[in-house]
Amino acid sequence: MPKRNYGWVFLLSLVAFSAAPGLCEQWYKGALHVHSLRSDGDAAPEVPVSWYKEHGWNFVCVTEHNQMQNRERFRDITENSGPTPEHVAMLKDKFGATWVEQVEEKGKSRLRLKTFAELETRFNETGSFLLIHGEEITSLMSGPHVNGLNIEEEIPAKAKAEAVPAARAYAEAVAEQEAKMGRPMLTILNHPNFAEAVTLEEMLQLPDYRFFEVFNGHPSVNNWGHERKGYPSTDQYWDAVLTMRLVKGQNNPLYGVASDDAHNYFNFGTGEANPGRGWVMVSASTLDAAVLMDAMKAGNFYASTGVILDSILREDTGLSFKIKEERGVAYTTKFIGSKNGCSTESHEYKDPNGEIPERASRVYGDEIGEVLAESKNTAPAYRFSGNELYVRAIVISDKPHPNPFREGDLEMAWVQPVPAN
Ligand SMILES: [Zn+2]
Ligand SMILES: [Zn+2]
Repeated sequence: MPKRNYGWVFLLSLVAFSAAPGLCEQWYKGALHVHSLRSDGDAAPEVPVSWYKEHGWNFVCVTEHNQMQNRERFRDITENSGPTPEHVAMLKDKFGATWVEQVEEKGKSRLRLKTFAELETRFNETGSFLLIHGEEITSLMSGPHVNGLNIEEEIPAKAKAEAVPAARAYAEAVAEQEAKMGRPMLTILNHPNFAEAVTLEEMLQLPDYRFFEVFNGHPSVNNWGHERKGYPSTDQYWDAVLTMRLVKGQNNPLYGVASDDAHNYFNFGTGEANPGRGWVMVSASTLDAAVLMDAMKAGNFYASTGVILDSILREDTGLSFKIKEERGVAYTTKFIGSKNGCSTESHEYKDPNGEIPERASRVYGDEIGEVLAESKNTAPAYRFSGNELYVRAIVISDKPHPNPFREGDLEMAWVQPVPAN
């Protein structure tokens, strides 16, 4: 059988092997995108970290805008912005009066924000909880936001940057550090539909990107598309990129992650950027940053907003998995893919008034990312017929998300794509 995509085939052999029963792999639940008062979040860094730890997450990547968390930083304690006196009192109550560092300077009271090393010392627990250092490299005003995970040094952002050169420069900066430090790091294109970040055509010029956020919990990111602006849903975006890469013979798969992009830790509800909306489940041998990064690079994970999976087999014969059934909840699995020889024609997007929005993505036909099969089974399986370019799966439950990105959202999961040979 001719093998078109050697990179995928190699990764797949690893995945199929490591997901086989009997090996010492387990699932680790992770938050990939989290903010605190160090950037524009509304709580001191220990608040998000302890929230995730108390709610059963195994690892958290703290990703502030344009900064690592090893800088000395203070925030004025005021009634209006930054930490309020009530916030400081809550910190003392929860974490102990000696943990909270308050300094008086020129008549102002300031809160010292904990560093990454201090958070690690207090919260890390071998085998059950791990902090991973990261940064959201953020082109301000417009342009891409990119998460660099497990990185060592701060990567400067470009202000008002063109999407493609900026995103390329961020990925290169992470790759350079990866080579220099000799440990795996991750580059993720965040929320492509936020503030005109990265159109589909721009993403097609970034074949080195292996990860993007198919789901981000921040209320402003347009996961499900934007009719007036001409943004496709992130799922349509994903299928167009997967298909066009395969048609062009590019080896790099694109994997989809779910994240919270959490900023708000006090008021919970739709419209707030809260923790707990979307995460990844990574299958790995140990809770170690390098092992987790490598597992994700091998596609050994899925994205979830509530649906839990097991026994995922991504093989050259197809894709199968099990759904952890919750009593009274029904599940629909859609196997999605494009077929060999599918039409890759696209046309300009026109809004309901017939105008072409400035940052619209082009519109692709129904043959890109079609539903190849549907299943109501809790052990769904798809076998390649020999006619597909790839298959991936979305599981949609009928259970409403307890704190949805958008009213009416149901709990879901996204399984990573498998190429057909
Ligand atoms: Zn962002
Ligand atoms: Zn963010």
